Amino acid sequence: MQILTTIAEMRQARLELRLRRRTLGLVPTMGALHAGHLSLVATARAGCDAVAVSIFVNPTQFGPNEDFARYPRTFDADCALLEEAGVDFVFAPSTAEMYPPGASTYVAVEGVSDRLDGASRPGHFRGVTTVVSKLFNIVAPEWVYFGQKDAAQVAVLRRMVRDLNFDVEVVVCPIVRDDDGLAMSSRNRYLTPEERRQALVLRRTLCRIEEEAAAGITSSAVLIDAGRAVLVEEPKVRVDYFAIVDPETLVDLENVNAGNTLVAVAAFVGNTRLIDNVLI
Ligand code: AMP
Repeated sequence: MQILTTIAEMRQARLELRLRRRTLGLVPTMGALHAGHLSLVATARAGCDAVAVSIFVNPTQFGPNEDFARYPRTFDADCALLEEAGVDFVFAPSTAEMYPPGASTYVAVEGVSDRLDGASRPGHFRGVTTVVSKLFNIVAPEWVYFGQKDAAQVAVLRRMVRDLNFDVEVVVCPIVRDDDGLAMSSRNRYLTPEERRQALVLRRTLCRIEEEAAAGITSSAVLIDAGRAVLVEEPKVRVDYFAIVDPETLVDLENVNAGNTLVAVAAFVGNTRLIDNVLI
């Protein structure tokens, strides 16, 4: 496994693969890797000749009062996991490499970037779309792998790839959960044992909605009420958003659209913001 820290090195590695007619898959991450990230790597390995994983805690997607400074950075452990998983390249640039002084160009997907996480975290998706565009230009993968865990991000990035004609295929992988049902996240390590127990209410809420929808309820308002009845079981969990939306536009749906509906929740447990979702 090669660890590359400059754009020039990554481009050279890409060029050599191309000369050997080998395809490349990219898994963008911010590190602090867990089994969710590794599931993306495994899917990439199965579909591409070579796999690159980027590790970059992207400052432009964090708000001024968010956790950029304390975001977990576990580079050596991440590399050991990626080596074990059979990754070919780790691309781990510095902030200065990605954003040289005076960098002032951004990619913004209007509308969809202002919904769900975009509404609660102004500017977040502009940071995501900018860094992912840069990664596409630097790594030039045939395929890129994202997790359904970040459902709003998936909607924004799919739109960006379509609108800007990026020559890359987006592959979305299912949410990986811990045994207790909590969606895996690098931020779960912030949780105290008690907060972790409280956080399980998010999964229970989504399961209740799934059950009610399976029983034939289609009204989003009725389903949201059923979900809220579960959420109140943990009064210390502060809901940020809880919505039933179209998975492509993230616009609220009045009624569940069979086979094409996203139920998404974000909540603060202690100071930690967690997200989860289900497609019904
Ligand atoms: P992050 O390092 O949090 O930026 O995540 C990198 C990628 O891993 C994103 O595409 C996430 O959606 C994906 N990911 C994170 N957690 C999970 C999970 N529990 N299951 C599946 N994919 C995940």
